[in-house]
Amino acid sequence: MRPLVAAIDLEAVCHNYALAKRCAPGRQAFAVVKANAYGHGVREVVSVLQEADGFAVASLAEAAEVRAMHGEARILLLEGCFSVDELPMVAHLGLDLVLQSSEQLEALLAAELSRPLNVWFKLDSGMHRLGLSPEAVRQYFPRLRSAPQVAELNLMSHFACADERGHSLNELQLECFLDLLDLDFDQRSLANSAALLMIPAAHMDWIRPGIMLYGATPFADLSAAELGLKPAMTLSAQLIAVRDVAEGESVGYSGGWIAERPSRIGTVCCGYADGYPRHAPAGTPVWIDGRRVPLAGRVSMDMLTVDLTDLPEAKVGDAVELWGANLPVDDVAQAAGTVGYELLTKVTARVPRRYHS
Ligand SMILES: *Cc1c(COP(=O)(O)O)cnc(C)c1O
Repeated sequence: MRPLVAAIDLEAVCHNYALAKRCAPGRQAFAVVKANAYGHGVREVVSVLQEADGFAVASLAEAAEVRAMHGEARILLLEGCFSVDELPMVAHLGLDLVLQSSEQLEALLAAELSRPLNVWFKLDSGMHRLGLSPEAVRQYFPRLRSAPQVAELNLMSHFACADERGHSLNELQLECFLDLLDLDFDQRSLANSAALLMIPAAHMDWIRPGIMLYGATPFADLSAAELGLKPAMTLSAQLIAVRDVAEGESVGYSGGWIAERPSRIGTVCCGYADGYPRHAPAGTPVWIDGRRVPLAGRVSMDMLTVDLTDLPEAKVGDAVELWGANLPVDDVAQAAGTVGYELLTKVTARVPRRYHS
């Protein structure tokens, strides 16, 4: 077997969920498990989060997967329906439905459903990606209140810059949300991981932790460890070859990395077809034998190369951690010019997940 595995620590997910709940005492939580639980495996994550108040997903297919494991839990469909054809299934599965546009609202009001739904007005409070204007929410409120299709009538919105502490848009979005609370909503939800960690005024009734459940930080300037989070995924591989290269020799595709001294190069069986970012530059950290060593040369489809010159004892067969328990995914992401979210969600299907709890 190819020695590459994503080990998933389900106990860490539980720890992180409990931490999210402790940050917002008395509030309920939708554990965000979209995108296959950020790459960790939705079945396993949902089954270990039996205590969660609810789950949030991005599509009907994801919702159906969660419902199959959890007959009772509230399941929030974050972007609502993509077509009216989906409404009967939403009712059948008993989902909490987001309404982000007037088209979605009108479709719901025209539908005959097998049961009334808990619906969430999605307010565009300033991110300008999805949602209704404050005026539209006010205008639709009475119609939805009296609609037979509607059980709970709720309000939600999403921050654009909660990962940047003190960003002026956070205050404006919070104000926009609060301005609507003279309307008598049943439930309110505003906070993603970053907001629930840093903006207590945004906690409302339901928090929506995603990235923090998996032990990565939403902040550029605050590490997961500093937040008390435990990494859930450790992506590990092996050194499958080691060689010496002379000063002036190049390594890898395009010959872009050139040894500036006599160097020892290690080859690791993990590449971009496994989800390791191809654009990670030389110097991106890789963990071998208890130390960080720098990536050297282009990442290939199935392999990558590291500079072992300062780690002379490293040998073929040694364990390599691409990110995880010893090397925060956020550090790799930062070096590669992306975020932990992208690295975690992009680990491909050919990487076996191994679970322990
Ligand atoms: C994905 C998502 C979340 C979770 O965000 P994190 O930053 O991962 O905590 C919350 N709310 C909405 C609407 C989302 O789409």
